[in-house]
Amino acid sequence: MKIAILSRNAKLYSTQRLVQAARERGHTVRVLDPLRCYLKIAPGQFQLNYKGKRLTGIDAVIPRIGASITRYGTAVLRQFELMGVFTPNSSDAILRARDKLRCHQLLAGEGIGLPTTVFGDNPDDTGDLLSLLGKPPHVIKLNEGSQGAGVILAERLSASRSVIEALRGLYANFLVQEFIAEADGADIRCFVVGDEVVAAMRRQAEPGEFRSNLHRGGHASKIRLSAAERETALLAARVVGLEVAGVDLLRSKKGPLVLEVNSSPGLEGIEGVSRADVAGAIIDHVVSRAAPARRRSGGT
Ligand code: ADP
Ligand code: GLU
Repeated sequence: MKIAILSRNAKLYSTQRLVQAARERGHTVRVLDPLRCYLKIAPGQFQLNYKGKRLTGIDAVIPRIGASITRYGTAVLRQFELMGVFTPNSSDAILRARDKLRCHQLLAGEGIGLPTTVFGDNPDDTGDLLSLLGKPPHVIKLNEGSQGAGVILAERLSASRSVIEALRGLYANFLVQEFIAEADGADIRCFVVGDEVVAAMRRQAEPGEFRSNLHRGGHASKIRLSAAERETALLAARVVGLEVAGVDLLRSKKGPLVLEVNSSPGLEGIEGVSRADVAGAIIDHVVSRAAPARRRSGGT
C-alpha cells in the first residue's frame, strides 16, 4: 500500500516511527510537509501537487497536524479526502478536537464524564458565571491552548475574576472549570487506535505544579486502566470522530473525567513507558481500513 504521512518534520520521533512501522510491513511510505502541498479545486476535480509534481496513487494518509497549522493542514487533508484517500482522522474530526469548548459539548452530550465547565462573554455576567461553577479553586483554560500553556489555576475568587478580566482584555477565548483536587497533579493518557486502547501512561506533575504535561516537566509512568477508564477513552474518541486519538483523563471521585481528546498524540513518551508498538498498531489499523476502498477503486 502507498501511505503518506502529513508532517512538518520528518525527523520527529513520531513521524520516524510511523515510517519505520510502515516499511517493516512492506508498504511504500512518504512524508509530506502539509505546507508544501498545494491544491487545485475545480468543479468535480481535486488535484494536489507537491514540490512541482502531482500526487497520485496514495491509498491512505496519516495526518500529524500541529496546532499552529490547523487551518492549512486540515484544508490539505480535506483535499485528500475529496480525492478518495483514506484517513483515520478526518479534517472535520481534527477541527472538532482542536476546539475545547465544542469538544466538551459533544462529550457531555453523550453523558461522558468531564470537569464541570462554564463559558461566557460579558463582564457583567462573570459573577453569576463563576457561581454556576461553585467554590474556587478554578481552572481557566484558553480554548485553543496546548501542552499545558494557557492553563491557569486560580485558588481564590478574586484571582479567577482578575484572570478572566485580563483574558477578556486580550480578546482571548477561554473556559473555566472546577478544579479536580483529588487527581493530585496526575492525568492519564490513553492512546486509542480504532476500537482499542493500545497503550496508556500516567503523567505526574512536578512538585508545586498541577499540570502534568510532559512539556511542563511531568513524569510518565506505567499504569493499568480500569474498565471504566478504557470505555470512557474509547467513547470519547468515537464521539469526536477520531480513529487515532490521545484521550487525557483525570481520576476523580466521580469516576474518569475527560480533559482533552488529542488528534495528533505524540508517540515518544507513550511508547517509551508502555513498551507498546503504537506506531505498528496505527499502521495495521490504517491498512485494514484503507484496503476495502482500494479494492473498490481497482488499485494495486
Ligand atoms: P492542554 O491541552 O494544554 O494540555 P489540559 O486541559 O490537558 O490542557 O490541561 C493541562 C494539565 O492541567 C492536565 O494534564 C492536568 O494535569 C491539569 N488539569 C487540567 N484541567 C484540570 C482540572 N479541571 N482539574 C485538575 N487538573 C487539571
Ligand atoms: N504532548 C503531550 C504532552 O506534552 C503528550 C506527549 C506524549 O504523548 O508523548 O504531555
